[in-house]
Amino acid sequence: MHELSIALSLIDLATEEAERAGADRVSKVYLKVGALSGVVCDALAFSFDVAAADTLVEGATLEMEAVPVAVFCPHCAAEKELADLFSFACPDCGTLTPDVRRGRELEMTAIEVH
Ligand SMILES: [Zn+2]
Repeated sequence: MHELSIALSLIDLATEEAERAGADRVSKVYLKVGALSGVVCDALAFSFDVAAADTLVEGATLEMEAVPVAVFCPHCAAEKELADLFSFACPDCGTLTPDVRRGRELEMTAIEVH
């Protein structure tokens, strides 16, 4: 299960950060989830809760921020957010572009400890 391995590595990372900060409990983990990351948020939240048992991260809230897909349009010379994931075309001028600038990320941005 894809989400479980992601949850495990998030917990490892959060545990490391908490230990470095001298904390014995993580209360929140902030995560950016790109629309193209392939992660199912509900499945990840569930895996996270299960995998966090008996770790410093047990009971922590997973705060997920969805990141929309943005492409670079060569015609407009600007980053544009895609309205849907099935057409990689500039929403303003319709130019097709494979140049994805955002939306693939899956990254832990912060943790809260106590
Ligand atoms: Zn454009």
